[in-house]
Amino acid sequence: MEDKSQYGRMLKKENLRNTSHRQSILEALEASKEPVSAETLYLTLREKGISISMSTVYRALDVLAEKNIIVKTDFTDNNKSLFEIKREEHRHHLVCVKCRSVIPVMECPFHEYARALERQFGFSITGHKLEMYGYCRKCSESMDKSGNAP
Ligand SMILES: [Zn+2]
Ligand SMILES: [Zn+2]
Repeated sequence: MEDKSQYGRMLKKENLRNTSHRQSILEALEASKEPVSAETLYLTLREKGISISMSTVYRALDVLAEKNIIVKTDFTDNNKSLFEIKREEHRHHLVCVKCRSVIPVMECPFHEYARALERQFGFSITGHKLEMYGYCRKCSESMDKSGNAP
């Protein structure tokens, strides 16, 4: 198992062995748009042809939740827990090429597009980056005043 993957690094940081089961679980959680139950996750993994037992799924989820790699949400009414990957806040940036200020943009319109690309190319997308370059308001205003168009 290579440690270059983001999951490998996450596991290593928490001194967890990067087992193929843990990796598969993290991948499945990452691919899921919504929090899933252990049962759903188990079925998803089995569907993908991964041989794993229900108890291994439970144990792995507990360990990963304990280490804060995934988020466990308990529901008191039906005794079921849902799990989701702990995502780093996903954001893009507007980078001003003049003053070098960086403006974070929280909205991301690319998740749908990524799913479409996955279907089209049979490629499993695990992330993307996008930075847009230009002139911030302050810089473009000062350029307007001085009459120098960007
Ligand atoms: Zn600027
Ligand atoms: Zn994005």
